[in-house]
Amino acid sequence: MKEQNLETIKQKLLKARRELMDEVRNKYAASREIGETNVPDLADVSSNAYNREMLLNLSEAHHQQMQDIDAALARLESGEYGICAGCGDEIPPRRMEVRPFSRYCIDCKTEIEKFGE
Ligand SMILES: [Zn+2]
Repeated sequence: MKEQNLETIKQKLLKARRELMDEVRNKYAASREIGETNVPDLADVSSNAYNREMLLNLSEAHHQQMQDIDAALARLESGEYGICAGCGDEIPPRRMEVRPFSRYCIDCKTEIEKFGE
């Protein structure tokens, strides 16, 4: 992949990382608010539990996303970015544009989904 493309992708990843961090921070602040300012009466308990669970699941998804971004950045640094971790072929740049965290080409990805990693 071209040096210029890599730089663009790096900026994109860093931006996504920043946005994710902001989002996590906001959600975290919101979850603290739920815990601290709402004195739960019986009617509120279930909705609070629901909110907490939702936030917990969200943070797990965020965590996964953060890992994907960091892994992609690490591959950028090591020059492995855009190289399929399965067959070692170059992943078509167009695929990387659509899914910047991809580690596999479409063929390998399909195999993995069918047979497991
Ligand atoms: Zn492959």
